[in-house]
Amino acid sequence: MNPRTDARRDRAVPARSLVRPDVAALAGYVPGEQPSDPAVIKLNTNENPYPPSPRVRAAIADACERLHLYPDPTARALRERAGGLYGVDPDGIVVGNGSDELLTLLMRAAVAPGDAVAFPVPTYSLYETLVALQGGASVTIPFPASWSLPEELFRVKARMLLVCNPNAPSGTTVATARLAELAQAHPSAIVVLDEAYVDFADESAIGLAGRLPNVVVLRTLSKSYSLAGLRVGLAATTPELAAELVKVKDSYNVGRLAQAGALAALEDQDAMREHVARVRATRDRLTRELVALGFAVVPSQANYVYARRPGEPLGPVAATLKERGVLVRHFVALPDALRISVGTDAEIDRLLAELRDLTSTSHR
Ligand code: PMP
Repeated sequence: MNPRTDARRDRAVPARSLVRPDVAALAGYVPGEQPSDPAVIKLNTNENPYPPSPRVRAAIADACERLHLYPDPTARALRERAGGLYGVDPDGIVVGNGSDELLTLLMRAAVAPGDAVAFPVPTYSLYETLVALQGGASVTIPFPASWSLPEELFRVKARMLLVCNPNAPSGTTVATARLAELAQAHPSAIVVLDEAYVDFADESAIGLAGRLPNVVVLRTLSKSYSLAGLRVGLAATTPELAAELVKVKDSYNVGRLAQAGALAALEDQDAMREHVARVRATRDRLTRELVALGFAVVPSQANYVYARRPGEPLGPVAATLKERGVLVRHFVALPDALRISVGTDAEIDRLLAELRDLTSTSHR
């Protein structure tokens, strides 16, 4: 300890008063835990339990040869590949440092202080934080029990609407036709369709991207392509709207290694499809077993399941599982629910064994 620096710290103004008051007032988004111990079974942040395509490693090794040069600021090769896959003009694709960055770019480009941003809840809680950072106003509309789009969402006045589809944490989906109606009901608002988990689902709304002028579809390589550690997301929209988003992004927002790895991943659709098929099969088994254990589980179209014990706080269950080396997600705002990512079959066997043990002891 240096007494001189300590004294200076005593006189210093609090850090909170050095930043914008609205930032000081924010709690900040709390991401799921990322433990350093690889033995922990991670079923808390919806990663893919399987490795990415082996082509990714080779492409990244190759790109290492040119690390002294800045990456392509427009990620052209990756945009062309993604455009081809999605049937969208490559100029309508924006690449981000994860789809989280694309959400930030959307807010920065469209939401001014006081603007309303509407979304059905419960959903991805980062939306609310990003709206607050922008000085916007979140208009949260509860999903009905059926998890269909709330009628009020069609009538609300908003600068932007967000629909997470499949939704997190429920894993439920709404039909593309309904999403198209929503976009048409709000011609002067951006309608963001967050399809982070769509490769695990039966239907995608990607066909609306570039066709309805106010729709932006977000995709990520973090989930189905097993590349959460690489940080690559893709936005698909019209070239005109993409050009507006590009204005508010950092020039070199996606590194050379990330661009190369993501391109290789998109080029190996078979690897992605095979892992997605495995996750879907395990998901359906996990759902059946959780129901047998007395949980209420909505059928999921994502790589996680939302398991509830209506009225029973499940925080203690999540805490005991954690002590036993199994991480699942428990949200303070959703006390009687757990969101469980679909792991390998062996990981899910272990989770189920622990849950069986826990539920039998709690009933003794
Ligand atoms: N949208 C949803 C609904 C998510 O759950 C996540 C992952 N937490 C993201 C977007 C962001 O994913 P990434 O930044 O890894 O692309």
